[in-house]
Amino acid sequence: MEAGEDCCVKVAVNIRPLIGDERLLGCKDCVTVISGKPQVQIGSHSFTFDHVYGSTGSPPSSLFEECVSPLVDGLFQGYNATVLAYGQTGSGKTYTMGTGIKEGCQTGIVPQVMNLLFNKIETLKNQMEFQLHVSFIEILKEEVRDLLDSTSFTKVEGANAGKVTLPGKPPIQIRESSNGVITLAGSTEVSVSTPKEMASCLEQGSLSRATGSTNMNNQSSRSHAIFTITLEQMRKLNPAFSGESNNDNMSEEYLCAKLHLVDLAGSERAKRTGSDGLRFREGVYINKGLLALGNVISALGDEKKRREGVHVPYRDSKLTRLLQDSLGGNSKTAMIACISPADINAEETLNTLKYANRAR
Ligand code: ADP
Ligand code: MG
Repeated sequence: MEAGEDCCVKVAVNIRPLIGDERLLGCKDCVTVISGKPQVQIGSHSFTFDHVYGSTGSPPSSLFEECVSPLVDGLFQGYNATVLAYGQTGSGKTYTMGTGIKEGCQTGIVPQVMNLLFNKIETLKNQMEFQLHVSFIEILKEEVRDLLDSTSFTKVEGANAGKVTLPGKPPIQIRESSNGVITLAGSTEVSVSTPKEMASCLEQGSLSRATGSTNMNNQSSRSHAIFTITLEQMRKLNPAFSGESNNDNMSEEYLCAKLHLVDLAGSERAKRTGSDGLRFREGVYINKGLLALGNVISALGDEKKRREGVHVPYRDSKLTRLLQDSLGGNSKTAMIACISPADINAEETLNTLKYANRAR
């Protein structure tokens, strides 16, 4: 199958530049992009993707237009979508998604989604009525937590990292309705009507996101963070007929679709973080989600398997369960594999490329 054609999953690689620490350590660039092709080489390995951005692949500024903006368009046609940022801690997932507190503020994916969404709504508002909701949750240790409800959990950081304080509220439940729609019972859904309101939800949730320091990165994220935008739209009645009742020719069109923007947990294996006890257990749980995600996406991308009706293992983790109605079927998915070009990260970079390659 040609890259991305007829396939609901597109896979792109985003190569960030060498950053301060890597330069200080004298790291060398060990990743090569084949000129004019979406192909990446590392050592003797070579992989082809739908797109490659950065380090002389396509300019990173075209990532949004090529990978994400078609998904936003799809929302207006009622198609669910998911954008996933995958990669080891420090590879640029949060920067790429724009879910950090200060970084990637305007250039990240989420802020650009907001701009595009509200611009489209503005051009369509004469014919359609819109309602937008956002939720922001994280999955940590196979537990769903609400990032928009500051009372629901206690942050676990630094010196207190060993002391887990259980959430005061009952955990959020993932439910599936009879028509296959997945909902999160008990999570905060904020109704928003301006870009500013949406941005403030993003900021509030980003601040709440649990982080713990590890050897790899003191802002290391061991959780999957999922910012979800739900768009409801209803065709407005033609004003020319508005005085008349009982007009049967007026069909009210209603569509509802959601877009999940996912900043996945670091993909590095637990041993690399030099952790043990609690932290190690979290690593194992995180791997469970990433493992299940890899299996789901791989099953979806395999045309032959799909035709044979091979089982897609959504139920193997909270992450895949939650994304079930927005991965596969009619929905569209973009996976952005984030990598560091530095030779000290070569092993994890190779793992990331292998994982992403399996997703195609
Ligand atoms: P992750 O979320 O995968 O752990 P981050 O997004 O926090 O990684 O990025 C790690 C560091 O690299 C941050 O300091 C960030 O500013 C920097 N960085 C990431 N991507 C880029 C990029 N494309 N250009 C410049 N700096 C980047
Ligand atoms: Mg991050």
